[in-house]
Amino acid sequence: MTRLGMVIDLQKCVGCSACSIGCKMENNIPDGIFWSHYKQETEGTFPNVKLRYISTLCNHCTDAPCVKACPTSPKSTYKAENGMTLYNSDTCISCRACEFSCPYGQITFNAVDAEAKPYHNPDRALTEKGGTQGLRKKGKVEKCTFCDHRVRNGVDPFCVETCPANARIFGDLDDPNSEVSQLVAKNANFVLKPEANTKPNVFYINSYGKK
Ligand code: SF4
Ligand code: SF4
Repeated sequence: MTRLGMVIDLQKCVGCSACSIGCKMENNIPDGIFWSHYKQETEGTFPNVKLRYISTLCNHCTDAPCVKACPTSPKSTYKAENGMTLYNSDTCISCRACEFSCPYGQITFNAVDAEAKPYHNPDRALTEKGGTQGLRKKGKVEKCTFCDHRVRNGVDPFCVETCPANARIFGDLDDPNSEVSQLVAKNANFVLKPEANTKPNVFYINSYGKK
């Protein structure tokens, strides 16, 4: 099997948000919506304070509650054979069950039908499913697709390419020889909200503090 996933190296990440900005550019995402975002946490009491920047995106969970919650048949939010969690806006009935079931807040309802300006990436339209033939649509949910329009052509997601620190690494977690598998195997790692039992496929390594 193939299980595409990502490793984010927190010691390499410099908190520049290039991944978030690059994602917006690649996927024509307007103001107010993020497919790749971040959270910042502070820990401790002055002067012994730590700031942690954690870059986030859809975890493409193996046991994805968003897929379980989708009431359509076939599922409009579904697991692809390569392990990605994708969605088909053509069959989505806009009930937003997926959005409300995601423990990570990674699904957004697009209420505004806005396109990013002035730049529009036509490559986004290469995707068969995931934003209605690649066009983000008013009244539908949307989220990170691991840049499926790029991955299908053997290219990494754009956030991986745009990261100046090479902090994001993408690959097949079911291949024991892949870089992502090796990084997870050789480093202490964590996933976000393990208590949600979603089996996330985005792993964080080299944390400076507790997760
Ligand atoms: Fe679904 Fe949320 Fe997991 Fe992504 S992070 S697969 S949207 S439950
Ligand atoms: Fe961190 Fe790379 Fe994202 Fe910058 S682009 S915030 S270094 S993961």
